[in-house]
Amino acid sequence: MLQDQEVHAAEMERTFIAIKPDGVQRGLISEIITRFERKGFKLVGLKIMVPSKGFAQQHYHGAKERPFFNGLCNFLSSGPVVAMVWEGEGVIRYGRKLIGATDPQKSEPGTIRGDLAVVVGRNIIHGSDGAETAKDEISLWFKPEELVSYTSNAEKWIYGQN
Ligand code: UDP
Repeated sequence: MLQDQEVHAAEMERTFIAIKPDGVQRGLISEIITRFERKGFKLVGLKIMVPSKGFAQQHYHGAKERPFFNGLCNFLSSGPVVAMVWEGEGVIRYGRKLIGATDPQKSEPGTIRGDLAVVVGRNIIHGSDGAETAKDEISLWFKPEELVSYTSNAEKWIYGQN
């Protein structure tokens, strides 16, 4: 039988989260990191960079037929973006809950977009929308050696341990 720690290791997943240029310029980096961190998710990759327009187009390739695609890519490449990988049980789906609906007008209070943003074109944060997207986005933004694997001392308090 698997020990608890092994069970949790098997259930761990990773998601890609980015603080867009508006979130960086508005001084919301620490606020956003805090919300993921205090939930109990673990930061395993972090960098700040200005993506090129081509890189932004790759990141948002799934939206290339949408009318806002060009403006969105111009915006993402207009300034520094904080790129992160967060790890934890259910982090892909729950990360999206922490972020809130795409349109901040429809995001619940208590979510990042609900509390901190007003319009869809400046919704401050990106989060992968599924397991496949998470895998693709993590490998687009990070080299494998830029990600760390470690056991946090808090894990036994977050996940329990017999
Ligand atoms: N977006 C926009 N106008 C729209 C819909 C989306 O500018 O009408 C932008 C917005 O910044 C959003 C991004 O395009 O975060 C990607 O859209 P998607 O539907 O994938 O939403 P998300 O996954 O970011 O919630």
